[in-house]
Amino acid sequence: MDISVIVPLYNEAESLPELEQWIARVMKENSFTYEIIFVNDGSTDNSWEVIRELSQNNPVVKGVCFRRNYGKSPALNTGFVRAQGDVVITMDADLQDSPDEIPELYRMITQEGYDLVSGWKKKRYDPLSKTIPTKLFNATARKVSGIKNLHDFNCGLKAYRNKVVKHIEVYGDMHRYIPFLAKNAGFSKIGEKVVQHQARKYGKTKFGLDRFVNGYLDLATLWFTNKFGVKPMHFFGLLGSLMFILGFIAVVIVGAIKLYNLYTGKPTILVTDSPYFYLSLVLMILGTQLFLTGFLGELIVRNSPGRNHYEIEEEIQLS
Ligand code: UDP
Ligand code: MG
Repeated sequence: MDISVIVPLYNEAESLPELEQWIARVMKENSFTYEIIFVNDGSTDNSWEVIRELSQNNPVVKGVCFRRNYGKSPALNTGFVRAQGDVVITMDADLQDSPDEIPELYRMITQEGYDLVSGWKKKRYDPLSKTIPTKLFNATARKVSGIKNLHDFNCGLKAYRNKVVKHIEVYGDMHRYIPFLAKNAGFSKIGEKVVQHQARKYGKTKFGLDRFVNGYLDLATLWFTNKFGVKPMHFFGLLGSLMFILGFIAVVIVGAIKLYNLYTGKPTILVTDSPYFYLSLVLMILGTQLFLTGFLGELIVRNSPGRNHYEIEEEIQLS
């Protein structure tokens, strides 16, 4: 099969028939073999009935229905597990992404050798309150992930080589960083294609402004787990040691001054009257705790199934 189209959706009943027809038309024009996997993320409208009907009329339409709403990432991951096509395309259900982009995305994966091609909504039809924070967000994501050529990490329209989706796990709200996940799994040929974007035709957006707060927190998590995921002591131990040493030096200085003054008969103040004494206490306590956090982290890693998971590209004469 050439293409799997994965569509995560939450209350998008009005858009679905139009979207399905549009995808089917593009596939037919280009004679692709394909499947459409609708992942109904616990919609409370009649989206699932619509999907059933669509699949009765077109056997390549498949569907998964969550019993409740989990989020876009779980929906995508569920689609990824089931996708059979050589190229996997993800697309929002709200008709903001255009299926007309599919043939070019397919070509970029199969002929130009990209592992992942992300859409870039260069001209967006979204409110300013969304487009401006998005620019900032993407600049940070570029910096942290080291994927310098992407302008639109969170674009719903993306194409993947099948292997990529089988080797990444999207969970929580990590769909914003799929290119980063792919890069961490060793898929480095990541490209971009400018795509058409339309204003939402039906329904309304499912994400509020909290997406930016959560987005930044998730980025911090990804950075941390990628860098220190299996060696937390390198992070906590270093930080803890630095703080402890700083505190220790401070307390030595406080004590030495006191002793020196006592010895030379100069007037002294109580050690507990010095602000540096308290500073050093805090630093040493926090430092010790960070260090212990490192040990705890190491104990957790020792028991985690992922501690010895590596992405293996090829082997010779081993089985
Ligand atoms: N979506 C989903 N589960 C959710 C929220 C959203 O499957 O909990 C789907 C939604 O139906 C749409 C896609 O994710 O197909 C993108 O959502 P939306 O269009 O609301 O995001 P925006 O375009 O505003 O970024
Ligand atoms: Mg949308």
